Amino acid sequence: MNDLYKRQIDYLRISVTDLCNLRCIYCMPAEGVPKMHHADLLSFEEIVRLVNVFARIGVKKIRLTGGEPLVRKGIEELVAMLRAVEGIEEITLTTNGQLLEEKASLLKHKGLDRVNVSLDTLDPEKYEKITRVGELFPVLKGIEAAREAGLFPVKINTVVMKGVNDDEVYDFAEMAIEQGLSWRFIEFMPLGGVGEEQKHYYMSNDILIERLKKKYEMVPYTHKTLISEDYMITGTKAVLGFISPLSHKFCSRCNRVRMTADGRLLPCLLSSLEYPLRDMVRGGASDEEIRKKIEEAIKNKPKEHMFQGFKPMHTIGG
Ligand code: SAM
Ligand code: SF4
Repeated sequence: MNDLYKRQIDYLRISVTDLCNLRCIYCMPAEGVPKMHHADLLSFEEIVRLVNVFARIGVKKIRLTGGEPLVRKGIEELVAMLRAVEGIEEITLTTNGQLLEEKASLLKHKGLDRVNVSLDTLDPEKYEKITRVGELFPVLKGIEAAREAGLFPVKINTVVMKGVNDDEVYDFAEMAIEQGLSWRFIEFMPLGGVGEEQKHYYMSNDILIERLKKKYEMVPYTHKTLISEDYMITGTKAVLGFISPLSHKFCSRCNRVRMTADGRLLPCLLSSLEYPLRDMVRGGASDEEIRKKIEEAIKNKPKEHMFQGFKPMHTIGG
């Protein structure tokens, strides 16, 4: 379905849990987040029922996210259940990669198409600092396992932070070239949940593009992705993408809505608008009533964000 600004909304991002096995400095407080009661989470059956309604109004692509989606028990079964929904053409997942090595092959078998892995440094010590508790090696193994399982193309997401990891851009590009990866650089967003200290991490992706162009011949790459500015490095299979919500708003091309783990539909990442679908499902609403509510949410999708970053990223799923 189209929203009021003629954007075709065909992409739903579903957070399946608030919990995470890491504590990234730009996403969560050091002590983690209070655990949601299991009863507050949408069950797999509830998610699938809602996705059926979304599919009927034109959603074709689902991304599972979190928190960390691979810590939700039985996530592979959810993938299989979503695969069976008529109209859903693509199912992807965003993960920190910690549990990917053990799960990649089963996820593929159950119907996952692709995976995005978040990785902000190639330095083991820095990885521990950024994630506060994680180890780098399992992520590298997870990326390898995902490629071997055919979760293709594997995309790497890096949040670029001034003075923290921006010195590694050439290392990221080299790994992308060696492994034929698609590497996406995301501008840091100072959202709720991060401390004052983190707020000066922001740097514009324009600076990175300029640095990379000094070393590589980068040709703009036409790709169906709507929000990322992509370049291919000449003579390689590496694609470098830049997602720049602050320096270059891409709202006019935004084709997505988001659902939180407790079933709130968010028409925009950076607005306070939300529609509690779980309460409707549990209150006995019909599919038709739910469809109308989703259509209302999509109609009210803001034209563009005003950067009201109230909600922490681990609740929204990125
Ligand atoms: N745990 C999974 C992961 O890290 O890939 C999925 C959830 S995480 C919230 C989704 C994406 O949001 C990750 O790529 C993460 O780097 C990004 N993210 C989290 N906080 C961010 C922030 N403050 N600014 C920009 N991106 C952020
Ligand atoms: Fe966890 Fe992902 Fe947030 Fe890092 S970015 S704390 S891995 S939810």
